[in-house]
Amino acid sequence: MSGSNFVNEINKRRTFAIISHPDAGKTTITEKLLLFGNAIQLAGSVKGKRGPHAKSDWMTMEQERGISVTSSVMQFPYQERTVNLLDTPGHEDFSEDTYRTLTAVDSVLMVIDGAKGVEDRTIKLMEVCRLRDTPILTFINKMDRDIRDPIEVMDEVEDVLKIAAAPINWPLGMGKEFKGVYNLYTDTLHIYQSGMGHTLPEDIRIEGLHSDAASELLGAYADDIREEIELVRGATHTFDLDEYLAGRLTPVFFGTALGNFGVREMLDGFVKWAPPPQDREARQRQVLAGEEKFSGFVFKIQANMDPKHRDRVAFMRLCSGRYTRGMKMRHVRIGKDVKIADAVTFLAGDRSAVEEAISGDIIGLHNHGTIQIGDTFSEGEELKFTGIPHFAPELFRRIRLKDPLKTKQLQKGLQQLSEEGSTQVFFPLHSNDIVVGAVGVLQFEVVAYRLRDEYKVEAIYENVNVNTARWVDCADEKKLEEFKRKCGDNLALDGGGHLTYLAPTRVNLSLTQERYPDVEFRATREH
Ligand code: GDP
Repeated sequence: MSGSNFVNEINKRRTFAIISHPDAGKTTITEKLLLFGNAIQLAGSVKGKRGPHAKSDWMTMEQERGISVTSSVMQFPYQERTVNLLDTPGHEDFSEDTYRTLTAVDSVLMVIDGAKGVEDRTIKLMEVCRLRDTPILTFINKMDRDIRDPIEVMDEVEDVLKIAAAPINWPLGMGKEFKGVYNLYTDTLHIYQSGMGHTLPEDIRIEGLHSDAASELLGAYADDIREEIELVRGATHTFDLDEYLAGRLTPVFFGTALGNFGVREMLDGFVKWAPPPQDREARQRQVLAGEEKFSGFVFKIQANMDPKHRDRVAFMRLCSGRYTRGMKMRHVRIGKDVKIADAVTFLAGDRSAVEEAISGDIIGLHNHGTIQIGDTFSEGEELKFTGIPHFAPELFRRIRLKDPLKTKQLQKGLQQLSEEGSTQVFFPLHSNDIVVGAVGVLQFEVVAYRLRDEYKVEAIYENVNVNTARWVDCADEKKLEEFKRKCGDNLALDGGGHLTYLAPTRVNLSLTQERYPDVEFRATREH
């Protein structure tokens, strides 16, 4: 490929993830997207649907995650584009994985249940998107049900998520009376037919809201709907591509994922507007997506519970250049060149060896314990990509051994599990305790299981009086020393050797912050 062809190829890539609250319809919409991408023949086969499993049934979930390694990245063609959809775990106990996946995409699709509006998880995920001003496209789902007033839902998106919302299409009725959507920009009505959810429905259109055909379709509702649309035009934001790309405005589509309606319009808007692979900041310089030389970073490591593939897979986002099978790349942190002959992609459900991948794509590397989250790979250049954060854990346990002679194995195991992002580990300065931190409670179970399975260590958890953690730093050496002396009982080193304040209560944290104004307390830390 010549230089300009290569840049053309890269510009066809669209790499994104879906953010939503559980049950808003992420799985369903993923199936329909794959249907449009011809990646699956019949919608409904993305993955075994999570049952109503008990909270403690994490093994099954891990197994599903293991199997879902295969659906962790889904690549499909659509129109002239190549779309990479990165899956994120549905269960909030694995939300750190989700947060980090969001650092590897160029844009997101936010799915909102029209009956429920903006929910907690969406708010939290939106905050993470904001760290990088990620462009967001919105799909308001479940129009085949009686949802809330669409104007109210739009207002909620603006007020709660603090982003301007620009409807591209507007629903014509809802629930049993859902007739379709109206495109505010092309003056086209797209007509909904129920029962077509498993097909690629034909796009049946009527041109003109004021046409006779529209009057016929809308029947008794015609006047009300026309009036509502006039109002919507006056009262909402107009779509602006630059504002969308800056993360300040979200184009909004209405539809039903289950009925596979409105999804095509959304996908058309997505491939038209969503940004191609973006340039990335490395500590040394900015890396352009169109550079010929290969570079990438690891944003997620997944233990594979699928017994057929008992390995760990490191997911790498390519930031520039091209991966070809068998190429040599530099594992920058450890300063070694490694030959990668067996990177995997997960196309159409089966793990298959990648022959080639380019900037914007994701590849999976087999990891035998040397790769950490945040690691950069390059073609020899000393590069370190920034912006892959640790998030302060919210749950803490002291971990103890049943067999005290196995301290070494325990430390090694915890060190590795923390490096691959399965947990966070803290070593208090003034005691021999080991404190494990997690974002979700299931992570503790996963860690205990893997310690037993992979490191032959039986560990038990005990409660510990820690409510939250902050990474601390202070430019003034003297003040830092004083802080360490006075607050030593609450200080620890994390798995990476960074000083951390373990606060027993929120109140304690804010009092300490007030007392030491020169000390920085951070809720996220870079890898
Ligand atoms: P996820 O948790 O976000 O992945 O949500 P799912 O895709 O699993 O959907 C949750 C539930 O909502 C399932 O029972 C879906 O069948 C249902 N659902 C999804 N989209 C729609 C829709 O457009 N209309 C209706 N009525 N139900 C939907």
